[in-house]
Amino acid sequence: MKYIFLILFLSSSLISQINYDDYFSNGSLRIDYYRTGNFEKDIYSLKEYFREKYFSGSKTNLIDDLNYGYNRVEVYDLSDNLIFAKNYSSLFLEWQKTDEAKLTTKTFEESISIPYPKQKVIVKFFVRNSKNEFLEKFELSIDPKNYFIQPVSNHKYEIDTIYYSAPINNAYDFVFIPEGYTKNDSLLFIEDCKKYTEYLFKYEPYASLKNNINVWGINSFSKDNGADIPADSVWKNTILNSTFYTFDSERYLMTYNYHQVKNVASNAPYDQIVILINSNKYGGGAIYNFYSTFITRNHSDEKVFIHELGHGVAALADEYVDTQTYNDYYDLNYEPWEENITTLVEFESKWRNQVSVNTPIPTPTTKKYLDTIGAFEGAGYAAKGIYRPYQNCLMRTLANQVYCSVCESAVKKVLNFYIH
Ligand SMILES: [Zn+2]
Repeated sequence: MKYIFLILFLSSSLISQINYDDYFSNGSLRIDYYRTGNFEKDIYSLKEYFREKYFSGSKTNLIDDLNYGYNRVEVYDLSDNLIFAKNYSSLFLEWQKTDEAKLTTKTFEESISIPYPKQKVIVKFFVRNSKNEFLEKFELSIDPKNYFIQPVSNHKYEIDTIYYSAPINNAYDFVFIPEGYTKNDSLLFIEDCKKYTEYLFKYEPYASLKNNINVWGINSFSKDNGADIPADSVWKNTILNSTFYTFDSERYLMTYNYHQVKNVASNAPYDQIVILINSNKYGGGAIYNFYSTFITRNHSDEKVFIHELGHGVAALADEYVDTQTYNDYYDLNYEPWEENITTLVEFESKWRNQVSVNTPIPTPTTKKYLDTIGAFEGAGYAAKGIYRPYQNCLMRTLANQVYCSVCESAVKKVLNFYIH
């Protein structure tokens, strides 16, 4: 055990010595690829490369050590030094847990952006196994001088600075993209951008860190208002082709056209893509370091927005029960990697040290423990075997006003990683 700690200590001290300018130039290299498979198969295939104008991540924290997300990308120089790593999740991994994935094979769009390398690099793609260990699935050797790397100038949209506080490499950058807003709705979109920025800063930890948060808006408009509603035979012509009934869950509002999402997002600096959907029908969705969506014409909009950011920014798990959509989303034999749920298998790696010795584990959902940190059964879509830190949290119910303290500190950890 001591040996392992020593290795970790040595590697983290080496990591901190990576000098951005030694390895990377301005902008990002975007790798668009496909994931094809079913409940057990998972094949990666390359589509194409782009050079994006911005790299808005931290130039100091180049190796993601937060350990969130189902996917990881690692970049090595030709001497096999790890020079960049980032974790994320994707729609494909969620789909693998649906009934449809047992019956058919499907292809999903995925994409990752890394700081633009100066020399040839090896890019490795990893996915967690059921024990939550990262296994390598795919590898690319990339020459940054390859003339097939396309400029993103062919995806040109004007951008608006909605809120600016700090240079992009020292800020967490949100980009707001309009979906189902027509050209006639351009002023409405700007008003909405301002409104949701105000909402954002009503909530912790965003409020305390507002001096290191930027918000950008992109003027990319659609032919039609709204989004597809397949069960009602409503099909709209919108720029990102988003749809209700994702995985046949009415309120799950996502888009499968991720490469188009990235085409539009690349016009601005972004650490988090937020898609504002101009619909009054209740819905939303979000995946860690992928994108977040929510509806802007519904009375629950503010809470849905902040709830979805919990997933998109900090990979927080849903703390509610939903046995309809997914089959055994979490393996109860292992500790999930999400900060805000536990199977009690390795509870000490989570918030256990914050639980009072007088609080029983599992904790009864009685009035006595209403505002007490504990381990309350029913979370991560499962009624049994998965526990949440508090009875109520914005990641469980929109009736709650705030993230619980465990969720809040996870979001804060991510924001701090990006702003330093
Ligand atoms: Zn919570």
